[in-house]
Amino acid sequence: MIEEKTTYCRICEVTCGLVATVEDGRVTKLRPDPEHVVSQGYSCPKGLAAHEVTHDPDRVLHPMKRTATGWQRISWEQAIAEIAGKLNAIRAAHGPDAIGIYTGNPSGYAYAHRIYSANWTKALGTRNSFGAGSQDNLADFVAARFLYGASFRLPIPDVDRTSHLLVVGTNPLVSQGTLVHMVDAKARLKAVRDRGGTVVVIDPRRTETAKIATEHHFIRPGSDAFLLLAMVQTIFAERLQDRAFLETHTTDATWLESVVAPFTPERAADATGIDADTIRRLAREFAAAPSACAFGRAVCGPFGTLQAWALDVLNIVTGNLDRPGGAAFSEGLIDLAKIVQLLGLDVYGEHRSRIGGRRGVLGELPAGVLVDEMTTPGPGQIRALVVTAGNPVVSIANGQALADAMRGLECAVVIDIYMSETAALADYVLPAATWLEREDFPVFHVNLNTEPYSQWSDAVIPKQGEAKEEWEIFTLLGDAMGLTYLANPAAHWLRRALHLAGKEFSPRWIIDAMIRTGPKGDRYLPWSSGWNVARLRQHPHGVRLGELRTGILRDQLLTKDKHVHFANDDIAGEAERLLAVGAVTTSEFPFQLIGRRDLRSNNSWLRNVPKLMRGDRDRRLRIHPDDAERLGIVDGEVVRIRSRVGAVDGEVRVSDDVMPGVVSLPHGWSDGVESHRRVVAELGRGPNCNDLVDQRAIEPLAGMAWLNGFPVAVEKIAVGRAANA
Ligand code: SF4
Repeated sequence: MIEEKTTYCRICEVTCGLVATVEDGRVTKLRPDPEHVVSQGYSCPKGLAAHEVTHDPDRVLHPMKRTATGWQRISWEQAIAEIAGKLNAIRAAHGPDAIGIYTGNPSGYAYAHRIYSANWTKALGTRNSFGAGSQDNLADFVAARFLYGASFRLPIPDVDRTSHLLVVGTNPLVSQGTLVHMVDAKARLKAVRDRGGTVVVIDPRRTETAKIATEHHFIRPGSDAFLLLAMVQTIFAERLQDRAFLETHTTDATWLESVVAPFTPERAADATGIDADTIRRLAREFAAAPSACAFGRAVCGPFGTLQAWALDVLNIVTGNLDRPGGAAFSEGLIDLAKIVQLLGLDVYGEHRSRIGGRRGVLGELPAGVLVDEMTTPGPGQIRALVVTAGNPVVSIANGQALADAMRGLECAVVIDIYMSETAALADYVLPAATWLEREDFPVFHVNLNTEPYSQWSDAVIPKQGEAKEEWEIFTLLGDAMGLTYLANPAAHWLRRALHLAGKEFSPRWIIDAMIRTGPKGDRYLPWSSGWNVARLRQHPHGVRLGELRTGILRDQLLTKDKHVHFANDDIAGEAERLLAVGAVTTSEFPFQLIGRRDLRSNNSWLRNVPKLMRGDRDRRLRIHPDDAERLGIVDGEVVRIRSRVGAVDGEVRVSDDVMPGVVSLPHGWSDGVESHRRVVAELGRGPNCNDLVDQRAIEPLAGMAWLNGFPVAVEKIAVGRAANA
């Protein structure tokens, strides 16, 4: 039997509508959904190949246990009983902090996963919760909390109405944008230009986005905050600020003016490599534009939070926050910022890491302290690790140190669809369902839409093999460990009562409750035309929720006085630190290494899909022609890239697309690690830029890893010495 079912992609923020062809319980084809209310037939190659992950013969489909003779298939009953027994024994002997959890990025695309894994962690009582956020976006959340009073109050660019877009350290033509839902970024950025607007790209690499921009400026990696603060300084110095907006909607503008005062364009020119006249011009043009928006992602560096904060401040001082064509707050079926606050989950710095006293952000500690938390003896030392939907051995800074530390654990459990590089080091691997096998609602992206809309997807096919959804796995583990269901006694007892009545508690009820009590919900009133899950399911191509509204700032702000707050001691401290910092390169490590993304990859988990691995999957090190000539390096040569923590070998592509003094290498590849996946073993190897980054180089406010701009050396190597050519 052949059927067509609508669904949506859960690989990146764009969540494109797709149509799946299902034949005898297998997805044989995915195509873009032309009727989807927003994506309207748009998709990228990754989404169209997702069924190849679901039906990959290398997928883990049964619980697996490491034994003296190799991996052994075991039953779910045995796996859960043994894991719960080991974790409980460790907890009894050493306390809950002895169990750590690492939650990877795909959990943000599965509403039930996050709810259940976070509450399992809470019920367990460990503070040792880590995740992908410190490699990705925690700085944005901290900056939003400082300015708007809530971590999830994240403005997005009103790209379709803007006349001036400043794109800092992000490459939406390839990444599709992060923390923003922007279908077909290429067409929409081109449209800004076509209607006479300006797109300025700031990046140490002439990215795919830079190539379609009005202008592009190279910038020294990690110095974006300097540029942005100098633009704000210019705006104040030349009295270009929007005084009315500042007076009406903000506090402490004088504090801001004094903090940015030392960031003159001349000082910024030294730090950034962009000349002072250009910085002044950029500031004037931004301030003079009928509408303007700065957006970016250059937060994976030593000043990540300051950078994210400065970007928003530029929008605010020019009156471009909550203005058509500026930075807007997107409304959806749920107000995530309010819910997270109401549930008491919008926490910052309330708990700290045992090693280094690093602040937790939204319950998550920086991944950079994970290894030290595992290897430093004493109360609270991590002795067991549960990893869900993550591959930190490949994705965190210096993952090789984590691989070594994992070998010393008493128990390691990985929940994954593959025997990943991290899973291969575990004691147990539990098979997870892919997104084609589960229902979903894009809860974490609900307020990031440039075109407000919503959608629901039922599961397209049944779960393959013995795979389970993560929420089911955490429920089984929690039950076996005697933990309170959802860390909530009321939910715990309700579930028991339902069970006695022959019913099971469903995570769908939780998301339904959020929608029904949300801004456009039905409030459980049968006569209401408001939204609930049942109604949403009747719209398989999604529903538009009106236009992106502006003029709603007061409602959106979650500060007590309904003003944007500038004054912040942590930010002042970071600004001073930025002024004091010197060059990060040395004679031993004279280059700064930046990452690079590729349209056909998503971190590390799509490397076993043959369709995505065909052709030239470029993993070559980009180096500027002047630097290559100075080192006597030629195109195609294999070189060693070395840092204070590691070395990888990679083939060179000489290119003036990178700034002199900067080299670029993608992440997500893995060399020197055993692979249990056919295609990865054959085609999916390569040097990983993250292996060169010192995990202990941690940004102070959000715990961001220094994944962009870390100092490295590039060395010629003798023929035959290449470790991973
Ligand atoms: S990965 Fe591609 S298909 Fe999937 S949501 Fe993102 S852009 Fe769309």
